[in-house]
Amino acid sequence: MEDFREWGHKLIDWVADYLAHPERYPVLPAVRPNDILNALPPTGPERGESMETIFRDFERIILPGITHWNHPNFLAYFAITSSPPSILAELLIAALNANAMIWQSSPAATELELAVIRWLLDWFGLPTDWFGTTFDTASTSTLHAIAAARVRACPELRDQGAPSNLIVYVSEQAHNSGEKGAMALGFGRNHVRRIATDAEFRMRPDLLAETIRQDRANGLVPCCIIATVGTTSTTSIDPVPAIADIAARENVWLHIDASYAAPAALAPEFRWILAGCERADSFVFNPHKWLLTSIECSVFFSRDRVSLRRAFSLGAEFLDTRDAGVNFMDYGIPLGHRFRALKLWFVLRYYGREGIARIIREQIAMTRELHDRIAADPRFEICAPCHLSVICFRMKGSDERNRALLESINKRAEFFLSSTTLHGRFVIRIAVGNMATTRETLENLWLRLSESASVNI
Ligand SMILES: *Cc1c(COP(=O)(O)O)cnc(C)c1O
Repeated sequence: MEDFREWGHKLIDWVADYLAHPERYPVLPAVRPNDILNALPPTGPERGESMETIFRDFERIILPGITHWNHPNFLAYFAITSSPPSILAELLIAALNANAMIWQSSPAATELELAVIRWLLDWFGLPTDWFGTTFDTASTSTLHAIAAARVRACPELRDQGAPSNLIVYVSEQAHNSGEKGAMALGFGRNHVRRIATDAEFRMRPDLLAETIRQDRANGLVPCCIIATVGTTSTTSIDPVPAIADIAARENVWLHIDASYAAPAALAPEFRWILAGCERADSFVFNPHKWLLTSIECSVFFSRDRVSLRRAFSLGAEFLDTRDAGVNFMDYGIPLGHRFRALKLWFVLRYYGREGIARIIREQIAMTRELHDRIAADPRFEICAPCHLSVICFRMKGSDERNRALLESINKRAEFFLSSTTLHGRFVIRIAVGNMATTRETLENLWLRLSESASVNI
């Protein structure tokens, strides 16, 4: 225990210094594949080692191979952020080591999870009587949505296995977790329809309705529609109200993937992004993306608790009730259930809805300012509407030129940006989402972009 106390203090100090100045490290590590692996011994230690030695190797071998997601200049993928209350809660979660697989195995972990789920439903303007739970990732949450949709479309599959005529609908801009979930559940990729999008990368409801009509005419069974609020490439927002009309008319499960964007709705002026979501059957978002919570933490809501339970419970199908306590093991694949609710509770209380909204509002505003500068410069073009914290743009000219620009920026390991493909063209993507990123960061990025663009002409 003395080791624990001593190193606990040391590591908290280390973390505080690290979080105060993540920019002391290069955002991208200067390593090649297998460098780290080769620096580690091929066999495990026979005898225990001191914390001193272990930590020395952490600093010597591991840290130089880390891509620093905390770095203010990390603007790739979806830049994400944890926060001090989340990190402190992780310490308590590890210490309690509570496993909320059933109510009795950890009553407070189960009930705290139900409480924070209710807070979030309320803040998002979704029905507060929906069921909710947490999973590790959005990919896992979406797989659970598709499984629940399937058992609702086909109740006998629990015992007899799934028929092969069920169809899942996503937009061509949807995250591949929908297709992957459908593949893993045995739908077959040929049974996933990728509906085309409009000029602003939103699913076209007319094409969705037409595809469903054709599928029915061919004897197929529409099972699940996945609409996205905040797509991964451009943060486009599918027209959920129109899609919900189709889902209701056709009696098809509607799942909303708001993995990244949902927390923006905590600011009243961005509440519109969730319009129509109250009519969905299920909904996923990731506090580990834009809600200040450390990875992993995905929140999954569903109106249809019975189908979720039917898909995953081996027990009798009666509902567990508040009196008997909720057993999370009956609502998903895993038995073990981490006490994720504790970190969410710490975060939601420490910042409050208002405080979270302020951070997100500020990030959206500074993204907008950079967007306007890029849009105003004739060397560049904007490639998708920017309404949240992502900018998709390119230098006018060839893909090669844009690839070279991105490479020249990332190579210096000062900034880390990523790219996507839109209408067949290579597009550079800037994603703002880390609390350490400031206006000054984006100012410096603009100078770098501008300078590199001139050199690249
Ligand atoms: C990031 C993302 C996902 C995948 O999230 P994981 O938690 O990594 O599985 C799914 N959908 C969207 C829209 C995303 O942005």
